[in-house]
Amino acid sequence: MRQLYIGGAWTASVSGEAVEVVNPATEEIIDRVPAGAAGDVDAAVRAAGRAFPAWSALPPADRAKQLAAAAELLKQRADEVARIIATDMGSPFGFALKVQTLMPAGVLASYAQLAESHPRETRTGNSLVVKEPVGVVAAITPWNYPLHQIVAKVAPALAAGCTVVLKPSEVAPLAAYALADILHEVGLPPGVFNLVSGRGPVVGEAMAAHPGVDLVSFTGSTTAGRRVAALAADGVKRVALELGGKSANVILPDADLTAAVKAGVANCFVNAGQTCSAWTRMIVHRDQYDEAVRLAVEATAKYTVGDPFDEATRVGPLVSAAQRDRVVRYINRGQEEGARLVAGGTERPLPRGYYVEPTVFAAVEPGMTIEQEEIFGPVLSIIPYTTEDRAVEIANGTPYGLAGAVWAGTEERAVALARRLRTGQVAVNGGRFNPMAPFGGYKRSGIGRELGEHGLEEFFEVKSLQL
Ligand code: NAD
Repeated sequence: MRQLYIGGAWTASVSGEAVEVVNPATEEIIDRVPAGAAGDVDAAVRAAGRAFPAWSALPPADRAKQLAAAAELLKQRADEVARIIATDMGSPFGFALKVQTLMPAGVLASYAQLAESHPRETRTGNSLVVKEPVGVVAAITPWNYPLHQIVAKVAPALAAGCTVVLKPSEVAPLAAYALADILHEVGLPPGVFNLVSGRGPVVGEAMAAHPGVDLVSFTGSTTAGRRVAALAADGVKRVALELGGKSANVILPDADLTAAVKAGVANCFVNAGQTCSAWTRMIVHRDQYDEAVRLAVEATAKYTVGDPFDEATRVGPLVSAAQRDRVVRYINRGQEEGARLVAGGTERPLPRGYYVEPTVFAAVEPGMTIEQEEIFGPVLSIIPYTTEDRAVEIANGTPYGLAGAVWAGTEERAVALARRLRTGQVAVNGGRFNPMAPFGGYKRSGIGRELGEHGLEEFFEVKSLQL
């Protein structure tokens, strides 16, 4: 069994218990990580507290050097780390390499730069306003982008001068171990970064409630986020939440329908649909509806399901049996509520592994369960509209507001519609994901922003010195 990383050393958990890590493509146990306990959290938070004064007092350039070295080492090991992610999480290897590994390496490097360049002092009237690191950060992360979501918290926290206790998802924890190795090797001072693996209700709750934690940064489901926020509120801790989504892809009648549908299908099925910002609701004008459904079915046929290490694979397994069963339940529910299954379904595409066929529903009406709830699998709903106002109403008509897309004949028209969406990110006519732009949610999709300068700002307190 692996060990926890606390105060710069690998340490056994006081629990003595393990969580088994399963390869979702083979259903075999591939590793065991400690099921941490409250005592481990306490030791890690204390170590982070002891490390904070010296780490936060370093010149930003010194912290930047260590982050740059970590980014470099991650790049050198990208192949190995991508294999780990493809194996414990099930992303196709090419995607695991480019998006799940090299993108986080880029984000680490971006925070090495921002650690130095981001202004920490401003003047207003007779005051000098200074930004100071918030303190000890508890970072709790999910399994779907297991390294990216860790780096999106750990890199800005360290750049700001905070120290960190990380609890990765128990479902896909191995990338976190690879990162801990890297941070150890670059010589981060003991206690600046600590890793406590284990289950949410035990380790995560102990972190959120611990009096030595100053800020809790959580990514995961809305249900767990709510619990974390409630625990943190008791100690009046700062909280950042990156939660679920049910994002809309709004296609206006003058858009390039073929391009919009193709990109929409790709966005919905990437990472086997396990992407919080996935455009899972395609909203199409009634006059173009049949053609859009036809194009979506045609595009879906190209999403080959298979082993993450097979080059032909575009859709790997879902991460766990529980996740597969949850997605299958939603597909059944969609049919029960009268949506029309036009691709995919509940049949198992392969005899072994937690696979689900990429699935498309037509005749989806606003308010149906599959239209309202986050499924977190490769399931697309296509919804008709008749007026632009109604399209906006449907797009904004869920409790979520994480991402979305708008397609129109001109950028101006698309931007005008994008401004009406109550959501944190909108891709305009296929605009690419930008890892330096703020990422986060409106409504029940969360509180706060990650990535770029906005992500760094989360980790500062602000002090006014009246001169
Ligand atoms: P999850 O909420 O079950 O788990 C996320 C993390 O929280 C894990 O580390 C888990 O152990 C921990 N956790 C669970 N219960 C907890 C509790 N009571 N107290 C403290 N910690 C607890 O989510 P998941 O299944 O790992 O991930 C899928 C969800 O994450 C989806 O809803 C998805 O939309 C969301 N997500 C959001 C974003 C975003 O940036 N907004 C990114 C990725 C995933």
